[in-house]
Amino acid sequence: MPAFEAPDFLKLDETQFSEEERMIRDSARAWVSGEFLPRIQEHVRQDGSFPMDLVPQMAELGMFGANLKGYGCAGMNNVAYGLLMQELERGDSGLRSFASVQGALCMYPIHAYGTEAQKEKWLPPMAAGEAIGCFGLTEPDHGSFVSGMTTRAERKGEGWVLNGVKRWITNGSLADVAVVWAVTDDGVRGFLVETDRAGFEARDIKGKFSLRASVTSELFLENVEIPESNQLPGAKGLGGPLGCLTQARYGISWGVTGAAMACFDEAVQYARDRIVQGGPLASKQLTQMKFAEMLTEITKAQLLALQVGRIKDAGQLHHSMVSMIKRNNVDIALRIAREARDLLGANGIVDDYQSMRHMMNLETVRTYEGTHDIHTLILGEHITGMRAL
Ligand SMILES: Cc1cc2nc3c(=O)[nH]c(=O)nc-3n(C[C@H](O)[C@H](O)[C@H](O)COP(=O)(O)OP(=O)(O)OC[C@H]3O[C@@H](n4cnc5c(N)ncnc54)[C@H](O)[C@@H]3O)c2cc1C
Repeated sequence: MPAFEAPDFLKLDETQFSEEERMIRDSARAWVSGEFLPRIQEHVRQDGSFPMDLVPQMAELGMFGANLKGYGCAGMNNVAYGLLMQELERGDSGLRSFASVQGALCMYPIHAYGTEAQKEKWLPPMAAGEAIGCFGLTEPDHGSFVSGMTTRAERKGEGWVLNGVKRWITNGSLADVAVVWAVTDDGVRGFLVETDRAGFEARDIKGKFSLRASVTSELFLENVEIPESNQLPGAKGLGGPLGCLTQARYGISWGVTGAAMACFDEAVQYARDRIVQGGPLASKQLTQMKFAEMLTEITKAQLLALQVGRIKDAGQLHHSMVSMIKRNNVDIALRIAREARDLLGANGIVDDYQSMRHMMNLETVRTYEGTHDIHTLILGEHITGMRAL
């Protein structure tokens, strides 16, 4: 595979990113090229396998809970964190999903809603990649409409007993701890469930066309007993899980820009060498129009993510901003991946090339963490003040 050339049309490197931000990005970029990409083909061919042996290296590079402070986390700002997500997804959405779930969906709720004892117990080993987390919100019958959740947590003595099924859970069978969202008599609450507790079972979902290098599971909770000390006291109501989703969606918006950059780069390099009708594919007017569109959309996506990152660092983030960039950036990344696959012709359908893998992955990314439609509705409500019927 030729060396990756990152598009930076509006000179963000020179004018926007600090030296530290560039350094974090560049070390992640080198790691993805040197350690991860040589392994991706084998894991895509095995449905639902993630290169777990790379987890210690990821931890060493500060990739888990990277924008959290203390407890062994890297404590980087949100732009550096975004650039890290961009580079991980330039490798594969499964790789970025692994880091997103660990950091934004599991470490974040412990950091934001947990007791000091929960933070001390879980965050250092999770940052070190020695403990893996998963996030159980979606259920077989309730995805977008999370308030339909039926998983129950009932009081039993001083503790709780959990019953229910969670589906489509990234890292479910790899996890040491599951952040499980359940309905109680006082509304939705979050619980830390060690996965070796009696009554907990994770079964992997096979046959995915998308996110193949990522483990996706169904979680079964049958009379799982946990102590009161496993409840996340700071999470009350749906704001708890939604707060985590805002963190993860922010990272996704950067991540998919990385996937788009990978596809753009692959298509440009391919079109320069591929001869069609007496000349390079890159010299054809139609091809150049496609590249002009791709580069423009990537540049807009970079700017949107960057601006939201700076706003997030300034403490002024509103979740609707994240909806706008998740919705837009996933959409353009998916279009670019499809266009790049098309430009590669028949070669584009084999896994020696990456555009189709990104394209298939991005179908998941369009669906998870709030579908494209759901983010449209969030923005619509923000604009009009009216919840759509
Ligand atoms: C590979 C993978 C990994 C995942 N990882 C996790 C995880 O780690 N943890 C977790 O909790 N979940 C996870 N998910 C689940 C994901 O978040 C859900 O799939 C997503 O929220 C959509 O829910 P659904 O699949 O039930 O689709 P549905 O909600 O049934 O949506 C189906 C269609 O209906 C549309 N729709 C829904 N509501 C409306 C409406 N009001 N108006 C108009 N259209 C609407 C949607 O946009 C979509 O097009 C994962 C999913 C995948 C595929």
